[in-house]
Amino acid sequence: MIFKNLIRRKRDGLELTPEEIGFFVRGLTDSSLVAEQVAAFAMAIFYRSLDFAETGALTVAMADSGVRLRWDELRDRGPVIDKHSTGGVGDKVSFLLAPIAAACGCFVPMISGRGLGHTGGTLDKLDAVPGYRSLPTVEEFRRVVSSAGCAIIGQTNDLAPADRRLYAIRDVTATVESIPLITASILSKKLAAGLDALVMDIKTGSGAFMETRDEARALARSIIGVADTTGMRTRALVTDMSQTLGWTAGNALEIAEALEFLTGGAREPRLEEVTLSLVAEMLVLGRLADDHAQARRRAQAALRSGEAAQRFERMVAELGGPADLLTRPARYLPRAPIIEPIFPLTEGHIARVDARAVGNVLVGLGGGRCVAGEALDLAVGLSDVSGIGMRVGKDRPLAMVHARSPEHARQAAEALRAATALSDGPVSPPPIVHETLAGP
Ligand code: URA
Repeated sequence: MIFKNLIRRKRDGLELTPEEIGFFVRGLTDSSLVAEQVAAFAMAIFYRSLDFAETGALTVAMADSGVRLRWDELRDRGPVIDKHSTGGVGDKVSFLLAPIAAACGCFVPMISGRGLGHTGGTLDKLDAVPGYRSLPTVEEFRRVVSSAGCAIIGQTNDLAPADRRLYAIRDVTATVESIPLITASILSKKLAAGLDALVMDIKTGSGAFMETRDEARALARSIIGVADTTGMRTRALVTDMSQTLGWTAGNALEIAEALEFLTGGAREPRLEEVTLSLVAEMLVLGRLADDHAQARRRAQAALRSGEAAQRFERMVAELGGPADLLTRPARYLPRAPIIEPIFPLTEGHIARVDARAVGNVLVGLGGGRCVAGEALDLAVGLSDVSGIGMRVGKDRPLAMVHARSPEHARQAAEALRAATALSDGPVSPPPIVHETLAGP
């Protein structure tokens, strides 16, 4: 096969066969296709799209480009099931959901990524936990999933390597925002992880990849439809990302908020609602609960009894982190030298937030990255973030900034004020879960 002809065919809007897609994925994996060709092909797909069959073929071929995990030893003990979020600002759901689901009988092998641009990355947040090994060997990963019920790690080189190369090229060629390419990218990694079922958290709003509800719904339908052809039962929740999720944005700060949530401290209601909704979907999909009401009761019991917190603690300790992180977080999590309030210039109710701009406040503070591979300041960020509908003014700040220098704090304050629109009258916050989509 001559790859240039495949680029031309896709450029002209023609359908590719599974053999042609297989040829592309082999060339991606063994690097016999050069980056220029891959980029041109990705751009042709961006404009001409892939149909359902083509997206399915790309997904399976990329999943098969490396190791595919099997969890035969766990099958009699519970379902192997994961959640994947399309990303946002302050999204620390994984640290709550994985141990709660594990405490309810699921096995959660969660393979996560690093942050780029305005969205934070789960692995960067875990870097704030001293000693935590987010790239263990496959044997170690299996052992922790089996004993703690959950393990949150990074994508190793042998899982879906074709996706790894394609994603890196898409990232620098403005071809990330393609529904079939996002579908194949996410699902290839989930298939390689050997899941029985998957719950997708598709974010929508000013801080999401898919800003509009229609775009989010289209991605949800594409992912559910393609996953269904591979035998991986999948559901999707479309959830709100029009403001910071929870009270914090920042790596160590988000871990601290998650620990407080798990150990019975204060819980931001929208974070709690989205977490419990996603866990409930996992338990129903994994056939551990008959319906959502029963599933939520089980999840709440796992939190109340401390079992979910213990699962998190076990996962952290078995992956090299401190065994007493839950009881003495301040001893381990880094703290910024400057912590001060950001007051609004006038009083009012928060009407709208540009959540992407809030994510960029974190980048400006040094807690997020613009270029892949950049080192992060794990201590900085925002805490006590006021949400839509809240009254702010002289006595109630927009947030507390945690900064490395006074100049960083000043810039963050200016940017956060610019990202927040106030209104005189009361404002109702948007719902956190917009809708749930299931397969046929
Ligand atoms: N996340 C992924 O893993 N892949 C994409 O293409 C986009 C988001």
